[in-house]
Amino acid sequence: MLTRPDVAVVGAGPVGLAIAWRCAVNGLRVVVHDPAPGSGASRVAAGMLAPVAEAYFGEHELTGLLAESAARWPRFAAELAEAAGTQFGYRTEGTLMVGLTGDDLAEARRLWSYQQGLGLPITPLRPSQLREREPALAPRVRGGAVAPGDHQVDPRRLVTALRAAAERAGATLVPGPVARLADVDARVTVVAAGCGAAALTGLPVRPVKGQVLRLRAPGRAAPDFRHVIRGYADGESVYLVPRADGEVVVGATVEERSDTAVTAGAVLRLLRAAVDLLPDLAEYDLVEAAAGLRPGTPDNAPILGPLPGHPGVLAATGHHRHGIVLTPVTADLITELVVTGQADPLLAPFTPERFTAASTEKERTWN
Ligand SMILES: Cc1cc2nc3c(=O)[nH]c(=O)nc-3n(C[C@H](O)[C@H](O)[C@H](O)COP(=O)(O)OP(=O)(O)OC[C@H]3O[C@@H](n4cnc5c(N)ncnc54)[C@H](O)[C@@H]3O)c2cc1C
Repeated sequence: MLTRPDVAVVGAGPVGLAIAWRCAVNGLRVVVHDPAPGSGASRVAAGMLAPVAEAYFGEHELTGLLAESAARWPRFAAELAEAAGTQFGYRTEGTLMVGLTGDDLAEARRLWSYQQGLGLPITPLRPSQLREREPALAPRVRGGAVAPGDHQVDPRRLVTALRAAAERAGATLVPGPVARLADVDARVTVVAAGCGAAALTGLPVRPVKGQVLRLRAPGRAAPDFRHVIRGYADGESVYLVPRADGEVVVGATVEERSDTAVTAGAVLRLLRAAVDLLPDLAEYDLVEAAAGLRPGTPDNAPILGPLPGHPGVLAATGHHRHGIVLTPVTADLITELVVTGQADPLLAPFTPERFTAASTEKERTWN
């Protein structure tokens, strides 16, 4: 590109590519820098769009943003499928949450009553009602609940679709890393580099390791369950995400580590919990064991908005466990900021200023 771009996006994960797509659709000249697009956390992510199941104690504002983004997913998915000319495994069967033992169920119920107290759509189910919905569940499962609005998408296919949509809209991918923000020449720079954002911006984004397995139904048939299943099995937390092509994602560990080694112990615990909930999974092929690094933040919420002390630089990072569900709202809010200079009030709790020493300066000179 010979002329100076309007927008340089650093990072071609789901967040960066969605911002690039939306900015390009708005007529801006966009470049995206990444040495290995789609190689970050999204490469291993399960792709649950789970504003209810992921509503945890003490994360009220984050829960609101998750719900807002989940509500934007149907339209986002339709527009992306149209723009990219491809599908990406978006499924809306809902999520079952289950407890294997009485203790597991008691633990799960505490969270469900908190979620119900927030007015989130979640309905307790008796074991017989659970098995009506998913006959493959183990007879031992003591009880559960359904969150019909918690959906799923295949993150690898999502990244492929977002890249196609961004390039069709005119964005240019530049293969290579950005070492320093000063090396980028654009009117606005958006740092959407996942865990790589810490080195570029000094923001407190830390890697949180997650190990994940991928199984495949024999003969590539569709798995014999349709819902996302999340549960506790003898104190072990696990989720099972079925894809139409036969894949089942089993996840995930949550570890304060920055390596991507796969450990025997983690594989053992994940498989044991998975088979406890769905015994038929023991017959599936184990096709992949991988680890990825979630871009975590001190309050588990993303960091979105102008970077204090760096005029023209926006952060869109720190999406931790929620980058796939938060992709639509992040893309909308950051694109609006780039295009109009206006910050949607939704951004207020998530600005970088909450973590920077310069927060008192209230800088607004990025544009
Ligand atoms: C095990 C696991 C399970 C998960 N499950 C879910 C889930 O079910 N639902 C959900 O919503 N989220 C889930 N997540 C979280 C989700 O994957 C992340 O929040 C999301 O991928 C963040 O997107 P991103 O684009 O910001 O970063 P990433 O996906 O990490 O992508 C960052 C990109 O930036 C590039 N990059 C880094 N540094 C530089 C640099 N200096 N210059 C240029 N490019 C750079 C990388 O190469 C990479 O392509 C999961 C994560 C893990 C690890």
